[in-house]
Amino acid sequence: MPIAKGCRVGVLGAGQLGRMLALAGYPLGHQFAFSSATPDEPACLLGQVYDNTPESLQAMAQQCDVMTYESENTPVELVDQLNTITPVYPSAPSLYYAQNRGREKALFTELAIPCAPYQCVNNLDDLKKAIEAIGLPAVLKTTTEGYDGKGQFVIQTPAQSDQAWLAIGEKPAILEGFISFKRELSMIAVRNADNQQVYYPLVENQHHDGILRLTLAPASQIDPHIQQQAQDYMQALLNKMNHVGVLTLELFETENGLIANEMAPRVHNSGHWTIEGARTSQFENHIRAITGLPLGATTPRQPYAAMINIIGEYGDLTPAFSMPNVHVHLYDKTERPARKIGHITVLAQSQAELDNTLQSLSQTLHLNK
Ligand code: AMP
Repeated sequence: MPIAKGCRVGVLGAGQLGRMLALAGYPLGHQFAFSSATPDEPACLLGQVYDNTPESLQAMAQQCDVMTYESENTPVELVDQLNTITPVYPSAPSLYYAQNRGREKALFTELAIPCAPYQCVNNLDDLKKAIEAIGLPAVLKTTTEGYDGKGQFVIQTPAQSDQAWLAIGEKPAILEGFISFKRELSMIAVRNADNQQVYYPLVENQHHDGILRLTLAPASQIDPHIQQQAQDYMQALLNKMNHVGVLTLELFETENGLIANEMAPRVHNSGHWTIEGARTSQFENHIRAITGLPLGATTPRQPYAAMINIIGEYGDLTPAFSMPNVHVHLYDKTERPARKIGHITVLAQSQAELDNTLQSLSQTLHLNK
């Protein structure tokens, strides 16, 4: 791919991910366009906005040099169709696997990436058979469109199968074995069309009510061979899907090593720390990858970093603005329960400095809303 300068980049979606992609892409001389149903989404002020009608999206593709998307729920057919007009990255195979839990698990299995035992479930009868095969506890998850813990039910006893099936809306699903994990980790990798690949360090993610609250970067006490193992899994996925752009893999760390949970073919909340915390952010590297530029270094700028999501309410941010090692990002969204409206990155030279800063912030922010 020739090195592209001054590209017009189209993003399907106009939320905070699109906003941060544009904020990373403007210094490289690019321009941005977004698709949005309403003109007040977080990215809308950062480029031309197209509505979501087929004609409008087609016009957008005609005016863009390259396109990308914010969500793994973007229809594969739409990406295929727009790709006949202008290149869309990551291309359709990445979406095809990542937006369906059954296909995703089958791919992990094909590539010898360890994952929870699972069975596909299309009706209540299937569910009862799957419970017998996999054992309990187990997690029932809708095959598509689950996020932030939605569309899931943890089944503890066989008597709960009817309740679980109703709770997930009687939709095609997978039942997967419950993994007893020590920590949740994730890795972000990036590949460009010249097959250059870079990997960020494994990070630790802490959730509350199914929503990411805190990322610690890098995750503490990661043995180099565990980092390498995660990179090998990523490499297998990137190559198999001919992926161009950022790919995120969520993993469980267990007594017996890493177990893959799910992947996202996009920039990810667990990579927001990279904006100030890494030599090149996930957003810049995604833009570099899809516009044919060489990828940037992924090494941390300081030994310790953390990313705190601001969820539901802003709380009192005044102290955060006066801390020299803290960076506040607000997405221009109104407060609403369980909504991601901003994040804060903390950089530190020592574990003690990180802990102290997190402790101070937790006193003024509403961290568990
Ligand atoms: P997911 O939407 O697959 O990322 O799941 C949301 C959260 O549910 C994960 O972050 C885990 O905390 C938990 N979870 C998902 N799958 C499993 C599993 N098989 N065993 C135990 N916990 C799980």
